[in-house]
Amino acid sequence: ERKRWDGIWLAGQRDTDPDTIFDKIVAKEISAGIVRETDDILAFTDINPAAPAHILVIPKNRNGLSRLQKATPEHVEILGKLMVVAGEIARDESLGFGPDGARIVVNDGPAAGQEVPHLHIHVIGGRAMAWPPG
Ligand code: IMP
Repeated sequence: ERKRWDGIWLAGQRDTDPDTIFDKIVAKEISAGIVRETDDILAFTDINPAAPAHILVIPKNRNGLSRLQKATPEHVEILGKLMVVAGEIARDESLGFGPDGARIVVNDGPAAGQEVPHLHIHVIGGRAMAWPPG
């Protein structure tokens, strides 16, 4: 039996952010260069690449993850899967990544330059990277 506080707790967890362009890519309503697809993850080429190789890895269902700092223990499984796919992509030389590694990064919030409020891991490579980032 549901108690009143169950609903209040759920309201706090609900994903109220609007859909983004990534939902349209997941729904195949707009095309993207898809390089990996599983039941719950999509990886596709960035439309404005920052390097010779630039892939975005996203959860198909945002489920509250508009940004990484929204993550809760409920997201542990999907976050782990995203990291595994990011690593697989970074070692895929057919995508333009080299044996010396890649920059694998999450921009969290406007100060970091996040533009799309749907969690995404950038896998960027094919050239040497500078540190610190700009
Ligand atoms: P953010 O700045 O970390 O939010 O990264 C968003 C990324 O999504 C940017 O690198 C954009 O170039 C990329 N992007 C935006 N729209 C599209 C699209 O329609 N297809 C592929 N990549 C996109």
